Amino acid sequence: MAAQTYDIITVGGGIAGSILARAMAQHGAKVLVLESATSFRDRVRGEAIAPWSTKETMEMGVYDILMAAGANHLQYWNEYHGTEVMDRLDFVANSVPQTPMLAIYHPDLQEALINAAADAGAEVRRGARVSDINLSGIPTVTANLDGQSAEF
Ligand SMILES: Cc1cc2nc3c(=O)[nH]c(=O)nc-3n(C[C@H](O)[C@H](O)[C@H](O)COP(=O)(O)OP(=O)(O)OC[C@H]3O[C@@H](n4cnc5c(N)ncnc54)[C@H](O)[C@@H]3O)c2cc1C
Repeated sequence: MAAQTYDIITVGGGIAGSILARAMAQHGAKVLVLESATSFRDRVRGEAIAPWSTKETMEMGVYDILMAAGANHLQYWNEYHGTEVMDRLDFVANSVPQTPMLAIYHPDLQEALINAAADAGAEVRRGARVSDINLSGIPTVTANLDGQSAEF
C-alpha cells in the first residue's frame, strides 16, 4: 500500500501530541495523530495543573476547552493539622501569573484535547499503535490499525 503523506505525524494523542497537532493544523499543516487507545482509561496521575501552566493553557488557546471538559479552579493550597488549616497559599494572589491551579480528570483532559485537534483539522486515528519510526530518507511511521500494518 502506498504511504499516505503528512507534514507532521504525532505519535500519541496525549497532552503534548494533541496540543501540537491542534496548533499546527490551525496554521495549515496537514497533521496526522496516531493514538493507540480507542478510549482513554484512568491512569495514576496528579491531575493538577500548576498556576504557571494554567497561564500556558490560556496562551495555547486550550483553557476554555479544559473548562468546558470539567476543569475546576483550585485557588488555595491548604496545609492542615488534623482538621485545622495551619497555612494557606493563595495561588491567584501569590503566583507570578496570578492564575489558579486547574484540576481535571485525566481521561477527560485527553479526550477534550484530541477532539480539539480533530476539530482544528488534524486527522485522528484511534486504535493505531505505532511500531516503527524510520528517519532515513523520507521519514516513515508504521502503525498497526485494526490488525493491519499501515505506513504513513
Ligand atoms: C503518577 C504521575 C502523576 C502526575 N501528576 C501530574 C500532575 O499533578 N500535574 C501535571 O501537570 N503532570 C503530572 N504528571 C505528568 C503528566 O501526566 C505528563 O507530563 C503528561 O501526561 C505528559 O503528556 P504526554 O502527552 O507527553 O504523554 P502522555 O499523557 O503519556 O500521552 C501519550 C499518549 O501516547 C499514546 N501512545 C503511547 N505509545 C504509543 C504508540 N506506540 N502508538 C500510538 N500511541 C501511543 C498513549 O496512549 C497516550 O495517549 C504526572 C505523571 C505521573 C506518572
